[in-house]
Amino acid sequence: MALMRRVILAWAESAWLRERATRAAFVRRSVSRFMPGEAMEDALGAAREIEAQQRIGTLLTRLGENVSSSAEAEAVTGHYLQLIDCVREGGLNAQVSVKLTQLGLDLGAAACFQNVRRLVEHAERAGSMVWIDMESSPYVDRTLDVFRHLREQTSRVGVCLQAYLRRTPSDLETLLPYGAAIRLVKGAYREPAAVVFPRKADVDEQYFRLARRLLDPSHPPGTFLGIATHDQRLVERLRTAAASGGADPTRYEHEMLYGIQRPLQARLVRAGVPLRILISYGDCWFPWFMRRLAERPANVFFVARSLLRG
Ligand SMILES: Cc1cc2nc3c(=O)[nH]c(=O)nc-3n(C[C@H](O)[C@H](O)[C@H](O)COP(=O)(O)OP(=O)(O)OC[C@H]3O[C@@H](n4cnc5c(N)ncnc54)[C@H](O)[C@@H]3O)c2cc1C
Repeated sequence: MALMRRVILAWAESAWLRERATRAAFVRRSVSRFMPGEAMEDALGAAREIEAQQRIGTLLTRLGENVSSSAEAEAVTGHYLQLIDCVREGGLNAQVSVKLTQLGLDLGAAACFQNVRRLVEHAERAGSMVWIDMESSPYVDRTLDVFRHLREQTSRVGVCLQAYLRRTPSDLETLLPYGAAIRLVKGAYREPAAVVFPRKADVDEQYFRLARRLLDPSHPPGTFLGIATHDQRLVERLRTAAASGGADPTRYEHEMLYGIQRPLQARLVRAGVPLRILISYGDCWFPWFMRRLAERPANVFFVARSLLRG
C-alpha cells in the first residue's frame, strides 16, 4: 500500500483531526464534491435529479459507523425505516445501503440482526432491498453471518465483498450456493499486509477474477453482481468478459460513488449500461471523506486548493 494512502487512512482514525477538520470551512467545501448535503432530503433530492436526468437508479447511505449504545442503533434503524418510506412515496428507484456497526454490531450480533432484519422486511414490503456494506477485516465474519441468516429468509438483501482481502475467493465460494447479491469493491480500509494484497495490481487481478466468477450464468437464481469500481480498465475488461461469457444482463450492474469519475458514468449511461450511483449523506462524514482522499491522493491537492481559495 502506498505510503500516502497509509498515512491518510491513519488520519481517518484520529479523533483530534476529526474534531478540527469537520469545523474547517475549506474541508466542508471539499466534501461537497462527494456529497450533495448532510440531510436526508439532500440525498433524496440528488437521487431525484439523477433519476430524472440520467434515467438511472441510486443507492442511499447515511454516514456513520461504530455506534456505542443500543439507543443510537435504534435511532439509526428508525432513520432508515423513514428513508425507505420516503423512497417508496417518491416513487424513486433507490435502494439503501447500511453499515452493520451503525446498527449496533459492536454491541452484539443478535441486536444488530434484529435491526437489519426490520430494515430488510420493510424494504421488501416496499418492493426494494437492502445492501450491507463491508467494513474493516475484524467485522467480515460477523457481517457474512448476518447476511447468510437474512438470505435464508429473503432474497431482498445483498452484501459487499472486498477484492483486496486474501480470504475473499473462499468467502465468495461459500456465498454462491445461496444465490447471493454481491457488491464487489476493491476495499477502502487500512489493513495489515497479512490480510490484504499490498500491491494494487494484485487487487485489480483478484477483482477481475472474482467478478468473472460471479458473472458465470450457471449460478442459482438471485445471484447478482454490483460491479462497484471507477477503474476504467476493469470496467472495460469486465464488459468484454460479460459479453463473451454470455452473462445475463439482468444479473449485474455497475455502481459508482456520487461525484467520482463523472465522465465515465456519463459514457456508461450513453451506452445503455446499467449503472447505479451511491449517494452518501449525514454529518459523520470525516472517516468516509478521508477514505475518499486515500483512494486518490491527488484529491489532497484539491482540498489544498480549496484552502487557498479561502
Ligand atoms: C458503490 C460503492 C460502494 C462501496 N462500498 C464499499 C464498502 O462497503 N466497503 C469498502 O471497503 N469499500 C467500499 N467502496 C469503496 C471501494 O472499496 C474503493 O475504495 C473505491 O471504490 C475506489 O476504488 P476503485 O475500485 O474505484 O479503484 P481505484 O483503482 O482506487 O480507482 C480507479 C480510478 O477511479 C478514480 N477514483 C477512485 N476513487 C476516487 C476518489 N475518491 N476520488 C476521485 N477519483 C477517484 C481515479 O481516477 C482512479 O484512478 C465502495 C465503492 C463503491 C463505488
